[in-house]
Amino acid sequence: MERSQALIAEIEAEFPSFRIVPKRGDKLQGAIDIALKIVTLGGQRSYMTRYHTALFGKLFVPDSYASMSDDDRFVLLRHERVHLRQRARMGGFVMGFVYLVPYFPLFLAWGRARIEWEAYEETLRATAEVYGVEACEKLRPMLIARFTGPDYGWMWPFPAQINRWIDEEIARIRALSPAP
Ligand SMILES: [Zn+2]
Repeated sequence: MERSQALIAEIEAEFPSFRIVPKRGDKLQGAIDIALKIVTLGGQRSYMTRYHTALFGKLFVPDSYASMSDDDRFVLLRHERVHLRQRARMGGFVMGFVYLVPYFPLFLAWGRARIEWEAYEETLRATAEVYGVEACEKLRPMLIARFTGPDYGWMWPFPAQINRWIDEEIARIRALSPAP
């Protein structure tokens, strides 16, 4: 079985209502897409094509999901499982409040940044598992851009701090991984 299929089966066992739903053709996702383009003044224009969104215990996938490799889907799903667990831990309402009503406040959104960072720690761990810990470094520019740029409404525009979070997580992964 493909690695991502096995993980989907694990996720479905933990969260029976979990589904993967294409964004394209979903009315609410279309409305969110338009709202995001407006509030970010066009800074976030890839919501339907590139961004995966966990909402209501489901994963809404962009057009690019269809062409992702099994390994990349595995890494993605590890990230999204963290959001499912956060939702179970915090409750849909609280999680929605910090996250769903997305993009507000723009520029400084500590709650959203912490929720995302917890999931990106898992992205780094899954990347190290699949591609080796050296591959984590390659994610750094994407991670910095995601937190400090328009993708998530400039949620935490402090690159030095994001760099430190990345350094700390990579150090933890190295400490835990067996010596070669
Ligand atoms: Zn996320």
